[in-house]
Amino acid sequence: MELISLDFLNSDWRDWRGSGRHENRLEKADWLEWFLAKWDLPADLSAIRDVRDLTLFRDSLRTIVEYTVAGEPLRDADIAFFNEALQPYSSYPQLSRTENGLQLTQVSALNGWPYVTARIALDLAELLAKGDLRRLKMCDNSDCRWIFYDQSRNRAARWCDDKCCGNLMKVRRFRKKNK
Ligand SMILES: [Zn+2]
Repeated sequence: MELISLDFLNSDWRDWRGSGRHENRLEKADWLEWFLAKWDLPADLSAIRDVRDLTLFRDSLRTIVEYTVAGEPLRDADIAFFNEALQPYSSYPQLSRTENGLQLTQVSALNGWPYVTARIALDLAELLAKGDLRRLKMCDNSDCRWIFYDQSRNRAARWCDDKCCGNLMKVRRFRKKNK
């Protein structure tokens, strides 16, 4: 499942192969451009005031997700953090035409980066409030720590990707056993 919040959280990138290399992709113009285009966000790079604020925002959300994944409940301070990020979102209904008739959608009056952060917070808050938290996972490869939503039928996925981290972990386990 593609979620804007998970894409954003995974901008804290680590080399899953275990080189120890990691990257704050919020500092990479290429990555930000890809992110803004993918989610059709009304913001541009030149308008970022301080990438450290954006990084701090991401790291706060990431900490919340990491202990949610570990089965811990949200603290009052986390709820307050979400509500502060959501408060400017205020939306209003808009009528538009579709192929089969009319539809009513909620549109936000916000624009630019305040909209981007509010939308990410909304997406994650919806996931925490309405999603199946047992499906919210962090890749079992401790070098990777990619956040994902496990859509497998039995909720048994352990790795972000069976071909990359899955294979690597199987090979490591095999080597350990045969030492
Ligand atoms: Zn992984």
